[in-house]
Amino acid sequence: MVKCPNCQTSKSVRKLLYGFPELPIDENKFELGGCVISKDNPTHTCKNCGYEWSHKKQKNKLGKEVSSRDIEKIAVDVALGISKEKLRVKIDTPELEEIYNVIKKETDEAREKGYAIEFPNLGTDLEPVKKMYD
Ligand SMILES: [Zn+2]
Repeated sequence: MVKCPNCQTSKSVRKLLYGFPELPIDENKFELGGCVISKDNPTHTCKNCGYEWSHKKQKNKLGKEVSSRDIEKIAVDVALGISKEKLRVKIDTPELEEIYNVIKKETDEAREKGYAIEFPNLGTDLEPVKKMYD
């Protein structure tokens, strides 16, 4: 579900429809954005705070050069307690840095709350796991 970047609620987010959509629209999901279609149009609006933004643009900022496979690798390595310098994916762009920071923060929070982070069958290289529980 899409969250409002301004007030963080997701219940009040509506996707903006442009042009002449078939009526009636589902008002719990959509909002009419007007009949002018432009690539600079915002894609979402928030009924709670009135903020409008383009979800596509936000995604591109993070998702352009980073593959989901890389993100997965970072998440696994971070959860295993591998230090930033030794990750399989080199953190050498602002995008990767941001992703790393988010993953690290969430992993640390999960650990603080005592959630076990488990991975099914990661092969033979289990040393970092041992270190984590020492
Ligand atoms: Zn909002």
